[in-house]
Amino acid sequence: MFNKILIANRGEIACRVAATCRRLGIRTVAVYSDADANARHVALCDEAVHIGGAAARESYLRGDHIIEMAKATGAQAIHPGYGFLSENDGFADACAAAGLVFIGPPASSIRAMGSKSAAKRLMEEAAVPLVPGYHGEDQDPALLRHEADRIGYPVLLKASAGGGGKGMRVVEASEGFEAALASVQREASASFGDDRVLVEKYLTRPRHIEIQVFADTHGNCVYLFERDCSVQRRHQKVLEEAPAPGMSEERRRAMGEAAVAAAQAVGYVGAGTVEFIANQDGSFYFMEMNTRLQVEHPVTEMITGQDLVEWQLRVASGEPLPLKQDQLRIHGHALEARVYAENPDKGFLPSTGTLRYLRTPAAVTFALGHDGDGPAGVRIDSGVREGDTISPYYDPMIAKLIVWGRDREEALARMAQALAEYHVVGLSTNIAFLQRLVTSQAFRTADLDTGLIERNQAALFPPSAQVGTETIALAVAALVDAETRARRVDPADAHSPWQNAGAWRLNGDASSQFRLRTSEGETLASLRSDGGKQWLTVGDQTVPFRATTHGGGYALDLGARTVKGSTHLDGESLYVFSGAQQTRLEVIDPLAHAGTADAEGGKLVAPMPGRIIAVMVQAGAVIGKGDPLIVMEAMKMEHTLTAPADGVVQEVLYAIGDQVQDGAQLVTLEDVVA
Ligand code: ADP
Ligand code: ADP
Ligand code: MG
Repeated sequence: MFNKILIANRGEIACRVAATCRRLGIRTVAVYSDADANARHVALCDEAVHIGGAAARESYLRGDHIIEMAKATGAQAIHPGYGFLSENDGFADACAAAGLVFIGPPASSIRAMGSKSAAKRLMEEAAVPLVPGYHGEDQDPALLRHEADRIGYPVLLKASAGGGGKGMRVVEASEGFEAALASVQREASASFGDDRVLVEKYLTRPRHIEIQVFADTHGNCVYLFERDCSVQRRHQKVLEEAPAPGMSEERRRAMGEAAVAAAQAVGYVGAGTVEFIANQDGSFYFMEMNTRLQVEHPVTEMITGQDLVEWQLRVASGEPLPLKQDQLRIHGHALEARVYAENPDKGFLPSTGTLRYLRTPAAVTFALGHDGDGPAGVRIDSGVREGDTISPYYDPMIAKLIVWGRDREEALARMAQALAEYHVVGLSTNIAFLQRLVTSQAFRTADLDTGLIERNQAALFPPSAQVGTETIALAVAALVDAETRARRVDPADAHSPWQNAGAWRLNGDASSQFRLRTSEGETLASLRSDGGKQWLTVGDQTVPFRATTHGGGYALDLGARTVKGSTHLDGESLYVFSGAQQTRLEVIDPLAHAGTADAEGGKLVAPMPGRIIAVMVQAGAVIGKGDPLIVMEAMKMEHTLTAPADGVVQEVLYAIGDQVQDGAQLVTLEDVVA
């Protein structure tokens, strides 16, 4: 086994590889670009080397430079992760030439599978079933069109060198062929520097089912079952699961054996994935082989209990595969959701920015989850922490959220729960979309095919919902809570601190108003207490209101309804998280900063006309900057005026119940002499 490896990647996969190395006692060297100096993967590795500018071609794609760094740091092997250099046969060769182990297949296998067309020709010889189509060398447009006519429409035109869902067009009829061909060729030469295409029968309502294979240098090759990755947008995976719903033992074996045959046909070694496209009747065809560890490998780890990165390291160091085919078993069900910084409502446009607030479900970063109900039921693979940025330079993935359950239903319930507890502020994410997806009728009943998202537009992209009373109630709970904390009431006094300590209480039966701006306009909410009970009014609706703290958030009893959720106050924006729904509200507080602004020169003045409803200090009190001094009621709202600086109260000029004028001096202060 290796003593030290260099991880030629970033983000979650670099972190994930580092975690296994740590467990196995292998030292790790991280590489990082200008944009990643403070990245999580750098912190997790034992050593780190700066390799260049933020753009991938100036850093993570500089194979020669990375090889130099591996040699300089004394690493014996390079793990390429996925993306970047992972499927670059030239890089694999260069590693070998430099005396380094490339943790991946031989360069010849990468080359053989690199062109989808050439791969299909090889698969044909190995008797692996293929989608009817044309994958020849001759690229004469007339011939291609003739082939498309022969195959029958609709057909799919694919860039032979393609990947990542790019360079693909569906052609519905012969008339549209030429224009589609020109556009695929343009995209293919721009993205892959190679304009060759292949033509395939376009299957309607197919499923994407892929097989994880593993081979060693001793001639062993096994399959670690299948993953269903049918839920896609723009031909890219969104949700993945294992095992595939509805898979029979017989078909699993047939697909597994076909995948092993495909791998063996190219002399494969290491981790690879053979992607199949399957008809609803179960017939399946080879699509392509990805000669690397796949993004969605964790679902396979969860159901097999095997660490695939450990397998990669063992195989790369010459050991035989840890298990034989008949020792591999499927336990339970696993789901993975890709949490992206993107905006599903704007065509999944990537979003960039700082993760200003990040709360994730209780999870383990690394555990293989088939031990029942343990914490291993939820796993998060992520390369970022709160405060990190999602930059425009790399993939906008925030994390992979992986859950395990004894069956699909349990896994689904865990996923829904975990998504509800995944809170991000600072950029748009697909979390609420993922939640709608996993709870949709189509996904719950495993009515899977690659058109699932398109077909369920109405359920998955609902018009933005009105901000409901529940959300407003959670916002009110948070604002009262914040107010209470600002007053330094000992929260140990009661489970529900604000129930006993709200300022309005000081005035007997009283009410407190909250003005909130939502996407639909302004909402006025009022909380009234009388006879030991509280009532919340939002619009023309009044409900009982009882709040308790609950796991970092609030549990509200609104009479007929109970609501759970949590909040995050970021300046004047209040984020309410309930279900996987995130709502942003602006807290309208015209007096927010008034107390401080107008309180220069040793005095505290009323920022507008109003009534004094609480006085927290007396003459002689020593106060610290920000301490609450007086509460005023003005414009139907309460406002706490705080100390502008450290000091001592000289005199309080008004008492509770007094009406004061705009600009009236309320308290005189003496600065503390240091
Ligand atoms: P990439 O290299 O971009 O991953 P693939 O060949 O794996 O390209 O195809 C990506 C996706 O496109 C598949 O998962 C599937 O959804 C869709 N697709 C590919 N081939 C076909 C086909 N013949 N018929 C219908 N859909 C297809
Ligand atoms: P898979 O077929 O394994 O699901 P994808 O094709 O969806 O994989 O994703 C591979 C892509 O991930 C690469 O093409 C690259 O754009 C991106 N990528 C590469 N490295 C990283 C990383 N460390 N973190 C996030 N994304 C990455
Ligand atoms: Mg693919």
